[in-house]
Amino acid sequence: MGRAIAAKQKLLAVQCVRVLWLREMKNSTRARANILREFLTLSPKKNPFDHSEIYDIMDLCVSCKGCKSECPSSVDMARYKAEFLQHWWDKHGIPLRTRAVAYISSLNRIGMLFPAITNYLFTNKFIANLFKRVLGIAPKRSIPLLYRYTLSRWLKRNKHKLLPHRKPIGSVYLFIDEFTEYNDTEIGIKAVELLTRLGYEVKIAVHKESGRALFERTDKKGRPTCQFQRNNF
Ligand code: SF4
Repeated sequence: MGRAIAAKQKLLAVQCVRVLWLREMKNSTRARANILREFLTLSPKKNPFDHSEIYDIMDLCVSCKGCKSECPSSVDMARYKAEFLQHWWDKHGIPLRTRAVAYISSLNRIGMLFPAITNYLFTNKFIANLFKRVLGIAPKRSIPLLYRYTLSRWLKRNKHKLLPHRKPIGSVYLFIDEFTEYNDTEIGIKAVELLTRLGYEVKIAVHKESGRALFERTDKKGRPTCQFQRNNF
């Protein structure tokens, strides 16, 4: 009885981030779990995952895994979503939007050849809207812009800034992910400056792409992702 009350109190205290943002119970973990269970147990189709209703409700889950740690029943919706998407994509193919997000670092690398032009295209209302419509991105979303130069380029030109002015009190390895490299370069620069001011020598970790975007968006087999992870660790 006590455990049940505690579990209920915990359940009430916890809300899926999607519910907090959208204020709709249909986006709650419970709603997703119920829809999934209903279709998987009652579907007349050979492939019970092949229902657009499940896709619509799963699409809004951001796979933050909040429910796994917070839910009293440890519902891991992010895992269910990955499983569902594998079945869905097996049948319907991987959408263009998903591919674009998965390979965003390769696209950024191409865009970085002419960052000013790329940013102009992404900020021009007409072109950006067209781009978003083709990819199936929500119109209100802004497309991440490129920095004027990559962090690697800045580091090459500012090698002396990796050392503090006084004798280093230690070394810190900096792992530069794709987003810090192309989009949030300024944060990487500030991190280097902060560490050296604190008296640390900054060393740049040599690694392949982190594969973060692929991890988020590739299919469950995710061979490129696994390869990225193996390359780095
Ligand atoms: S993983 Fe769980 S908490 Fe996070 S958005 Fe999905 S259902 Fe909500």
